Amino acid sequence: MKEKYNYVNLKHYKLNLKWILPIFIIIAIFSFLGFKYIKTLTYKNIYTTISELGDQTITQLDLAIGEQKKFVETMVDSINKGYFTTESEIFDNFADHLENYHFTRLAILDKDGNGITSDGHTVTDYPITKEFFNFDNVYLSENRKSTISDDQINIYAEAFYLNGEEKVLFATVYTEDYKEILLRRLYNGLGGTYLINKEGIVLIDSFDIIKENNINLYDFIVDKYKITDDKKLTKMNQMKENIKNKSAGTFDIMLNKDLYFVNYKNIGINDWYVVNVVPANTMANELNQFTAISLGVCIFINCIIISICVYIDISNQIKNRKLYKAAYVDPITLLGNENYFKEHSKIFFKSLKENKYIITIDINKFKIMNNMYGYDFCNKLLSIFGEKIKKGLPKNNITCRMYSDVFAIILEYDKDIKQVLEKIYNDVSTINVDNTLVNLNISIGVYKIKKLDTDINKMLDKSYIARKQIKGTYDNYYYMFDKSLENSLLEEENIEASMEEALKNKEFKIIYQPKFSTKNEQIVGAESLVRWYKNDDTVIMPSNFIPLFEKNKFILKLDLYIFEQVCKDLASWKQKFNTDIRVSINVSKTHFTDENFIDEYVKITNKYNVDRSNLELEITESATIDEEIDVLKIVNKIKSYGFYISLDDFGTGYSSLAMLQELPIDVIKIDKIFVDKANLNSNKNMINYIVLIAKHLGTEMVVEGVETKEQADFIKALNCDMIQGYYYSKPIEKEEIEKYFIKNGINIS
Ligand code: C2E
Ligand code: CA
Ligand code: CA
Repeated sequence: MKEKYNYVNLKHYKLNLKWILPIFIIIAIFSFLGFKYIKTLTYKNIYTTISELGDQTITQLDLAIGEQKKFVETMVDSINKGYFTTESEIFDNFADHLENYHFTRLAILDKDGNGITSDGHTVTDYPITKEFFNFDNVYLSENRKSTISDDQINIYAEAFYLNGEEKVLFATVYTEDYKEILLRRLYNGLGGTYLINKEGIVLIDSFDIIKENNINLYDFIVDKYKITDDKKLTKMNQMKENIKNKSAGTFDIMLNKDLYFVNYKNIGINDWYVVNVVPANTMANELNQFTAISLGVCIFINCIIISICVYIDISNQIKNRKLYKAAYVDPITLLGNENYFKEHSKIFFKSLKENKYIITIDINKFKIMNNMYGYDFCNKLLSIFGEKIKKGLPKNNITCRMYSDVFAIILEYDKDIKQVLEKIYNDVSTINVDNTLVNLNISIGVYKIKKLDTDINKMLDKSYIARKQIKGTYDNYYYMFDKSLENSLLEEENIEASMEEALKNKEFKIIYQPKFSTKNEQIVGAESLVRWYKNDDTVIMPSNFIPLFEKNKFILKLDLYIFEQVCKDLASWKQKFNTDIRVSINVSKTHFTDENFIDEYVKITNKYNVDRSNLELEITESATIDEEIDVLKIVNKIKSYGFYISLDDFGTGYSSLAMLQELPIDVIKIDKIFVDKANLNSNKNMINYIVLIAKHLGTEMVVEGVETKEQADFIKALNCDMIQGYYYSKPIEKEEIEKYFIKNGINIS
């Protein structure tokens, strides 16, 4: 079912980027840093690997060259020791070992470069430089072209004396042979191992990429890859510089979209360097795999975390929304509820202009409808009712159901508010619920908000108070809170401020209104009525404070106080006059919310030792129709203690015959509106019937408010039991009623 909380502003689900975004950014930063860190680690690894590669190459070169040098040294040593006298002797002696040490041939030359080789060649004018002619060390030359074959060779040379003549021993090796030593790997492109001298001239290229002689490795690379990028040139120059300074190094460089790792190291011989160039793609499997995996993992984790965040956020929102709905939406009308009204009114009041109103609407006699049509039907009715009101209103409003059948509106309206009220009245005058047309009467209370108002509860009260002015009367359906109500509200505030003090100061006093027998017009009972003697001179009537005390519950205290005073009086009358007169006492329905209230009454009767059959508790008819209260239980309890019970104001509430039959009522008091002069004639039949019913039920009858002889005569003719009214006696002071006792003798019951 599609939800239609269109009356209440429910927030839509919205991703809360406020905290998801930072989390996302933090994760992204961490992923990036982690990725970078692992990349650096991997690079370091690769750097170490190729550096180790360089070391291996160097070790092997070192081994090979070292051995060859050593052999040359050995030869020169033995020559110097004078073992040989001729060149051929020397050649013969070492001939067998030449192959073992990978020497191509030996040659012995004099200072001018003339001499012979071990394989029978004659050498003339070989350019012998200072380095060659060295008596102390074996010199290893860089590559040069053999004078005998076309091959590239390197020469080991050391000088010596033979028969007093200065000579130099040459032992030559094919440069080609060293390639075997330099590591050959399946490096494609530029990849491979190079032996270069300190100028960068390539001595050996393991892969024969560089065909020409005398090629500088830096220039070759820069040329081949057309490097113009400053950063790359700097890296290359750095290597050039480092090599000059005999230091080693490793770097990576992008050449033609391929990444290469380069490592260079001095090999400790002749300032030669091994340069390993490794294309990253040979390492790349590792690198790519790592990149792919770590990227994948980062994305995956990010997705999961973001999903979790989004999930948490959305479910929080759903939860909040549910809470919000439970807290603010009235489930029957889908309007806001009282909470919503009170909280959202604040926002409404922020921009307070002149013409804002609080309007409260109450459906008259809704309780009867509930009984007639049932709850489901009436809930539907409330829902349609709410919708109609809401739809008919000018735009700027808050409309809520406060409780039961009471709706409240805050409205901004610049024109005559009466137009709005009239529209509401007409809109809801007939409501169609499941094809049943229901005619409704409503009461509307209006309070025009003043700028100084702040408390929504007080404002609502004013609107309620205004509405209460019309409830029950049918000539008007709305009432605007006005000056006179304002004044009576102020008066109420005064009363509330002083009631506790008044009780302590015994300002509440009782007067008694006697009840008379219709048969002999003798006094047969009395009703206690409270008066408030404020400052001794002003008397405040109950109608001015009882409703307020019922609202603020002070009536609970006051009724007990009055009851105690009555008990005192009864006890004193019993003593003074030995009278058993029955006194009735009004008990507010406010007590009924706590069924144990009667225990307090019982305690008081015990305290004054008063016979409870001399006490009659008057409960109003309206108290018996409150659905929340189990009246039968309470009334039975009262009865069980021996009190009399009367149903007061009969005819003004809506008690049913069934109810009358069920409740153990002793006395029915017919309300004075039945005997009012204006109503008497039309009500005669009705009163007649009520008397018949009462007789049938076995209850006594009292007619209240009898003011004239005509009324009294009519009542007497009806066979009714008692009359109470100004015609016989107004409510009188205690001393006055005592006169009756004296006049009528001691036992009047
Ligand atoms: P009620 O119980 O219906 O009391 C009868 C009211 O009608 C009394 O008004 C009485 O003075 C008045 N009355 C009696 N005879 C006539 C008559 O012939 N003509 C006219 N016009 N009025 C007559 P009162 O004393 O102002 O009390 C008003 C209401 O206040 C009472 O109505 C009762 O509901 C309530 N009340 C009075 N005292 C107490 C009390 O101690 N406790 C409680 N809870 N309520 C009380
Ligand atoms: Ca009464
Ligand atoms: Ca009454």
